[in-house]
Amino acid sequence: MTNHVNPNQKSDLAIVLRSVPYQDKHKIIMVISQNYGKFSVIARNSVNSRRFGGQLDLFTAGLWTWTQKPNQELGFLDSVEIKRSFEGLRTDFDKLALASFLAELIIKISPEHLNQTELFKLYANALAAIEESHSSGATTTHEIQWVLAAFLAKFLQINGVQPQIAKCLDCDTMLSSELVTKNLSQPLRFLTHRAGWLCPNCIVLHDRTPFADEQPLTSFDITALAGITEVPLKELKTLLEFLNQGKPETLIDLLLKVLFYHIPGADSSQFKSLGLIQKS
Ligand SMILES: [Zn+2]
Repeated sequence: MTNHVNPNQKSDLAIVLRSVPYQDKHKIIMVISQNYGKFSVIARNSVNSRRFGGQLDLFTAGLWTWTQKPNQELGFLDSVEIKRSFEGLRTDFDKLALASFLAELIIKISPEHLNQTELFKLYANALAAIEESHSSGATTTHEIQWVLAAFLAKFLQINGVQPQIAKCLDCDTMLSSELVTKNLSQPLRFLTHRAGWLCPNCIVLHDRTPFADEQPLTSFDITALAGITEVPLKELKTLLEFLNQGKPETLIDLLLKVLFYHIPGADSSQFKSLGLIQKS
């Protein structure tokens, strides 16, 4: 016997997004992988059997090996070697709700079978940041809410609708410390439909009826938005001292509005887990 390489067998790092029963004994598992994007495979005999153990649990990251013939709609899972179980996400309600919402975003919005390495890394880093957030104390909720805000800012970037933060939509006035100081008395206004802000001059100049979707942005909000967009999720902790001077709710609300307005296929009413993460 020579070592035979099966051309239909593939291997990649993957994270479980969803698991649904299939016929009596099987499951269909949807994952996002590092190089093959989002896809589903059948895990045979995975119900009531120890064949896969915790390998198929939600959020579990592992090295997946599966076989898919060219004309098959679904491939078959061969094996999983767990890299990180993320079990801390399944034992804390707030963390579970947030991780589930991020999975739901990827399930509903990202196309299948398209290489999305950036999104895979963003999701993996977000799960790690959520799991590593302090699990007790009053700041916990804030800390994971900041992870959500940062994820949303980067998710928008990946999907090509990055909010314009650097300058005013109408007059190109750059965001500066002077503008931010002025902004204390005259808040900048964020417009969802244009995914950017208007400076105090343009707000006054227009002498206009306010847009239905505009909202004031404090200097804290705009500085925080610039920070979470710029800094990699892995390094979000370095911003926490600054971020904890304010609250993430306004930015989360703003980023969700931009997402549901600008990304095709995103409809807030379809998101079951959205209610669990929005508290006010
Ligand atoms: Zn302006």
